[in-house]
Amino acid sequence: MGVKSLLQLLVSVEQTKQAHAHMIVSGLTANTQLMAHLLCSLSLSSSPPFPYSLSLYHSIPSPTVFASNNMIRCFSHSPSPPHSLLLYSSMLLRHAKPNNYTFTFLLQACSVASALPEGAQVHAHAITLGFADFVFVRNALIHLYSSCSSLECSARVFEDNVGSRDIVTWNSMLSAFVRHGQIDNARKVFDKMPKRDVVSWSSVISGYVQNGMLEQGLECFKEMRDKGVRLNEATLVSVLSASAQMGLLEHGRLVHSLAESFKFPLTVSLGTALIDMYAKCGCIEQSRHLFSTMPARDIWTWNVMICGLASHGLAKEALQHFERLTNEEGLRPANVTFIGVLGACSRAGLVSEGRHYFKIMTHKYGIQPVMEHYGCMVDLLGRAGFVDEAAEMIDKMTLPPDPVLWATLLCACRMHGSIELGEKIGNKLIQLDPTHDGHYVQLAGIYAKAKKWEDVVRVRRLMTAKHTNKAAGWSLIEAQGKVHKFVAGDREHERSQEIYKMLETIVTRIAEAGYSPNVSSVLHDIGEEEKENAIKEHSERLAMAFGMLVTGNGDCIRIVKNLRVCEDCHEVSKIISEVFGREIIVRDGSRFHHFKEGKCSCLDYW
Ligand code: ZN
Ligand code: ZN
Repeated sequence: MGVKSLLQLLVSVEQTKQAHAHMIVSGLTANTQLMAHLLCSLSLSSSPPFPYSLSLYHSIPSPTVFASNNMIRCFSHSPSPPHSLLLYSSMLLRHAKPNNYTFTFLLQACSVASALPEGAQVHAHAITLGFADFVFVRNALIHLYSSCSSLECSARVFEDNVGSRDIVTWNSMLSAFVRHGQIDNARKVFDKMPKRDVVSWSSVISGYVQNGMLEQGLECFKEMRDKGVRLNEATLVSVLSASAQMGLLEHGRLVHSLAESFKFPLTVSLGTALIDMYAKCGCIEQSRHLFSTMPARDIWTWNVMICGLASHGLAKEALQHFERLTNEEGLRPANVTFIGVLGACSRAGLVSEGRHYFKIMTHKYGIQPVMEHYGCMVDLLGRAGFVDEAAEMIDKMTLPPDPVLWATLLCACRMHGSIELGEKIGNKLIQLDPTHDGHYVQLAGIYAKAKKWEDVVRVRRLMTAKHTNKAAGWSLIEAQGKVHKFVAGDREHERSQEIYKMLETIVTRIAEAGYSPNVSSVLHDIGEEEKENAIKEHSERLAMAFGMLVTGNGDCIRIVKNLRVCEDCHEVSKIISEVFGREIIVRDGSRFHHFKEGKCSCLDYW
């Protein structure tokens, strides 16, 4: 094998350097072509050692276009991509003739630097010199314009020369639409593609997931597998994220087993996605196990672990992880890390810890609090009865408080009977958002606590007059490879009759165990979900009844609910777990509840 073909096989920078040393010893450095090939192998590495590449280039007395192109390519990966433009202009001054590769690499450099005006100039040169129709150049142009937020220009290049398109052209246009959140247009491109590869499938799936169209993303993933397309890591990470957000444990497990059977290495991004999926699907042990066995972790791995522990009410462990991450690993916590840490404190009522971490977040780590941080703190302080301190915190905020934050404080006022403040906030919220009925419910609750019954009636009437609409509550449960979604009073399910029969059985058995419905919550506030007479048919109860029908005796029942579970359903779930000997895991809008033997992991604090 000749030296040249050997050079084409070089992969690592170390090997390139060894070959270079060998060439110096053998007196081959005057061979311009061989030197250019050295540069070429450097330019193919993900981060070429920049000063070394440049000195190699300068050691070539009269560099060929091939050598210059590879140097431009090295520049495009360097900390200073615009240098590639300087090199290009020096080429022109030397009357060296660029070729289509020159433009491809130049445009790549401009994309990395988001240099739109420079990129457009390169585009103009490519047109003048007759290289604009080369498919590589066109692909680089589509990418350039989309990374500079000029999606219309990308689309124009794409439409310009229909004959000059390869699969990369289609994929570039597809990912340009995905990047800009135009999933419908992305889908149109995808449907029109003459041929699709793993990149095409992966882009469209991640597009759906990033835009919150989780069901479509999973549907597309199924289609991809049915077609026998090879999987890649990016696709696995996207579908894991979809499974996590929807709480689909069975699906998440399937993806995990696919990753294992295709021998995907447990990289940081795949491992992190798996930890997140298991935590959000209620299997925190599995998350812990993966976390401890991962060969490498980054701050995101720690973040999902801390947030996962927090959502399961494992506050102490979440805080221990935070200490390990900062003390042992020497990593710098991020904004999200503190959302997990403060969330852990707020769910467990750890007031002094919460105050401490909120303080070090700004003082020690220089992180400016965002709405979520304030949300955790106001919730923490408010629940613990420090209503004035919470109100003071809102007053001192550097950003305008959002309605959710006021609503959190309102809830605390109600809980601790701060009538005056509650009344003020309640009225303010109703003005801000008159269609949100939660505010009326809370305000009415405050009046009820103060026994101001006329005001209760007035607020209730106001609520009906404003035709407020509650966010539709739903619960879902996975069974036999399918997702079953229920809304309150649902009669759409094919096994509806059996479900209602089971519901009756449940009611009878729990009544025997001494349960009676929570009348006070019916009177004043039934939580976030639906009308008073529907309390017995709340969506999670239907899902639970269905779960009892389709799972084996003693099996755990897992439910995902979009809103917070109401007090009465919480109570009923506890009793069911005891009477029927079932473990029930509910992920609601804010946290996990593990019901077991008549108790809940949240210790009724949620
Ligand atoms: Zn309920
Ligand atoms: Zn609970």
